Order: sequence, then C-alpha cells, then structure tokens
Amino acid sequence: MSDSSADTGESSNFIRDIIDADLASGKVSTVVTRFPPEPNGYLHIGHAKSICLNFGIARDYNGYCNLRFDDTNPEKEEQEYIDSIRRDVEWLGFKWHSNPFASDYFDQLYDYAIGLIKQGKAYVDSQSADEIRANRGTLKTPGVDGPYRNRSIEENLQLFEAMKNDEFADGEHVLRAKIDMQSPNINMRDPVLYRIRHVTHHNTGDKWCIYPLYDFTHGLSDAIEGVTHSLCTLEFEDHRPLYDWILDNLETPSRPEQTEFARLQLEYSLTSKRKLNALVTEGHVSGWDDPRMLTISGMRRRGFTPESIANFCDMIGITKKYSTIEMGVLETALRDDLNTRAVRRMAVINPLKVVIENYPEDQEEVFSGANHPQNPDYGSREVPFAREIYIERDDFMEDAPRKFFRLSPGREVRLRFACYITCKEVVKNAAGEIESLICTYDPESRGGSSPDGRKVKGTIHWVSARHAVAATVNLYDRLFTVPNPGAAQDFHQALNPDSRIVMDNAMLEPSIELTDNPLAYQFERLGYFISDYDSTSEKPIFNRTMTLRDSWAKIEQSR
Ligand code: ATP
Ligand code: MG
Repeated sequence: MSDSSADTGESSNFIRDIIDADLASGKVSTVVTRFPPEPNGYLHIGHAKSICLNFGIARDYNGYCNLRFDDTNPEKEEQEYIDSIRRDVEWLGFKWHSNPFASDYFDQLYDYAIGLIKQGKAYVDSQSADEIRANRGTLKTPGVDGPYRNRSIEENLQLFEAMKNDEFADGEHVLRAKIDMQSPNINMRDPVLYRIRHVTHHNTGDKWCIYPLYDFTHGLSDAIEGVTHSLCTLEFEDHRPLYDWILDNLETPSRPEQTEFARLQLEYSLTSKRKLNALVTEGHVSGWDDPRMLTISGMRRRGFTPESIANFCDMIGITKKYSTIEMGVLETALRDDLNTRAVRRMAVINPLKVVIENYPEDQEEVFSGANHPQNPDYGSREVPFAREIYIERDDFMEDAPRKFFRLSPGREVRLRFACYITCKEVVKNAAGEIESLICTYDPESRGGSSPDGRKVKGTIHWVSARHAVAATVNLYDRLFTVPNPGAAQDFHQALNPDSRIVMDNAMLEPSIELTDNPLAYQFERLGYFISDYDSTSEKPIFNRTMTLRDSWAKIEQSR
C-alpha cells in the first residue's frame, strides 16, 4: 500500500519513477497517456483505478490523456456504453484531451497491414480456425508452420484486398503476422491481425467487413496519438513483445512504451464486464447503475463521491504484484470523505410512535440542530418538535437488560437536540404487538441539557410526526456473501439475499432536501444516505450509501 500522500493525489509509484526517468533523460518531453475502454459495458471500480492512474499522471505532469474507445469487436459495442463511459470519466473529475475511437484509424491500420505484407512480415492464412488453433501448439509444445505461410507478397496483397472488398465469407481467411511459430511466447506464433466479420460497426457502419485485432490495433493507435506511456494491466505483459514487434516493423509517428501494472481485485465484488452484464440481464440487479453494483454509475447512485474513489485509488497504489484489496479499504475511503462532507439530519427508518402526554396538543416549537458537529460553516437548521414523535423501533425494548441505554418502561433518554423523555406506558394492539409508547417530557430539559445534573446515558434520534416526510429507504449491503465471488464455480450461489432491504415507511426530518444534484446526508446514528434518481417530492427515496461503522468486521472475526 502506498503511504503518505493520499490527499495530494500524487502518490509515487514505479510508473511515475519510469516517467521521471524518461523526462530526465529527454526521451520524453510531454507525457501522453490514454484510457482505452472497450465500449461493451459500463465502467467499474477496476477501471477507476486505471482512470485515476492515466488521467492523474497526465494532470500531475502537465501532459494529456486521451479517452480512446477500443472498438474492434463490432458485435458487442453500443452507444449506451459509450455515453456512460464519457459520463463516468467526467464525473470522476477528469477531462480528456481527445476522445477518438480506435475505429477512426481503420484506414491507417489497413495501410499499416499492407506495409507489413509488403515487407513479407504478414500473410493471408486460409486455414480454418480449428487448424490454426491446432498448429499453434501449446505452452509446452511449439507450433508448426501452416501451409499458407509462404505465400508470395503479391498473392498476399491480392487476397488481403479481396478480404477487404467483401469477396469472402467470415472465417475463410485471416491476416497473420509472420513472426515465429516456434516462439516460446504463444502470442508471437504468427498472431492474427485481421479477421473477416460481416457485422455492422457502431462507428463505421458497413464500410468494413474486416476488423483488426486488439494487439494490432492497440500499439498503433497509441503511436498515432503520440501516447508516450501506454499503461495496461499485467495480463498484457506477454503481449508486450508483440506490441514492440509491430511498432519496430512499421514507421509510425511516435514510439510509445507499454508498462503493466496489477489490476484491481476487490473483495466481495466482480470486475468482469461479462459477469456484471449477466447480473443485469438476469435481473439480479435493477441495471448497470444499481446501487449495489461496483460500477462507477452504481457507486454514484449509491452515494460515493468522486473524491472517495480517487482517495481509494491512492490508498491502494500501483504495483506489479497481484493482491486482493479488502472491501474495508473502499469503505474507509468512503466514510472518511462522507464524514467531512455529509450534512447531518435525523430520519427514522423503522418508526415507533411516541405520544408525549404532558406536551400540549396545540403546541409546537423548534430546536436548533447543527448541520455538522465539527464544521460550524455548515450552519444549523430548525428541528420542529410536537406532542407526537417517531423514534426507531430498535431504540425501545420492553424487557431491557440493565445495559440497554435507550428507551424502556420507566427509563429516561435524551431526544437529540430536544429534551428528556421517560417512558410511562406501552400501547399494544390485539395481537400483542407494540403500537406506540406514552411518555412524559421534562420541560426543564429543553435543548437537551440536564436540568439538575442528573445523568441520562442514551441519546436517540427522532422526528416530529406532524412534520415528518414519509419516504422509502433502501438499505444496501454487499451484493455477495463471499470475498471472492469471481472464483466461485457459480457466482450466483454467492449472491447476498439481503443486499437490498426496502424500508417503505421511513420518516424524514422536513429539512431534508431532494435536489437534482443530491446532497450527501448522514442520518444520525444510521449511516450515510443519498436521494435516489427515482425520488420525487411525492415519494422520496433514499439509498443508504454506507453504515457508520463496519458491521462486517465482526461477522468475519466470528467466522
Ligand atoms: P473485461 O475483461 O471485463 O471486459 P477489460 O479489462 O477488458 O474488462 P477494458 O474496457 O478493455 O476492460 O478496460 C479498459 C482499461 O481499463 C484497460 O486499460 C484495462 O487494463 C483497465 N482495467 C480494466 N479492469 C481493470 C482492473 N480491474 N484494474 C485496473 N485496471 C483495469
Ligand atoms: Mg478488454
């Protein structure tokens, strides 16, 4: 874990060391990075790590970062994903220099491919996919040269052009680099550069029926854009020789370097777009932006702030070694940020009515409540009080043990900001369920301070019944019950059945606002909450962003 500079956003790491050296040696003058998502799903917390790295470096070195859509798989890419990716990067607080599609380079890439053919470094292979696979060998056995490997340059040029001109069916031919079928690195055994796919592309429409593969496209796109440092995750380490081979064998406007870092693996979550997509399409969540999803849009809806995500990325740092990050790290980053930011309010999510019998029915008054206990700049608000209030059901116990410092028959508690009340009577319905409490209050305790120095251990939150705003509150918890759902044979088995609990009779303090740009609230004693997108003034909906304390730590200890 990186140390000191979590709040500056400039934690050093081995990649920044490389950049420092490149600047010092004069190899690089302007640092250029890129974040290259494939628009086949929504961005998740793992992407946030890469975004904070790439855009953070560009920001700190006065360089720039491109948002490049790596769109070489026409089957899976959609406008909805493109829009969501742009929105998420902006929401995280970053500005891209340019926002190209890899498909914008299809013409240039085609010319580069011809360049390789002309040098005898690429050929059209007409083996079937199965034959190609069989001849490629395995990790333990070398590959063998296929029968089309030594086609003449002339023939290759003709066939490749015919591929482009829609003269063949899908799979009839591919273009391959001519490198070394016996290479110990499978990626170097004549990798496929182009394949035939009769699919409409979201950007280029039906202009192309051949599409370049990722490895061919990526380095050349970097070079076209003048990227100096191409940062990718460790799975691509074995692809670096190919990245270099392509650039070494073609004349390109610039020469980027690829450097790999460990991808984020976070407990209790999935960071595979395929699996996230399955959660959405199978209806386990309400959408890509379901507040339980660790997609950036889900986290936004849940009430994460961009700052909390950036701080998390700083806390975990950038390394070359895989490790799994505990969920507690993300939660701590979130709580730390919300604690300083969130406006305090009172809300009762499971209400129990309390009638204060010695408080006149036609009377009401307001108490003053600080909006933030440590930050006077936040000011205060008026908290109305009247004869009937709601308290949390959990804050009452009929047969309470001695150490229960909340309300029970005959005991006194402090109502936050207001006064002391004592429980006199429990009112039950025919079924024996508690319906309401009859209490008295001490007029001398107004404002919440003790009139005669007597001690009251418990302070509970409450909302005036007459003034309360009814709301639905979603209590969210982790989506999975096991630390590594991705490794489970079937991640469905690990879904947490209680990841969303709907409280549809919550009562809010009237000063809680529903705005288009919702405020982060701390509902005192309950956690951090934010108004949901579907919230209306007729039917407010709040999402619990996070509890105040980590309730999982105890569970894990006791396992
Ligand atoms: P998936 O395999 O789920 O589709 P991906 O890694 O292929 O995910 P891309 O859209 O290609 O997703 O990723 C864009 C960029 O984000 C890449 O540079 C990739 O390395 C980076 N990235 C993706 N997942 C993570 C992660 N978990 N941690 C760090 N970086 C990541
Ligand atoms: Mg990918």
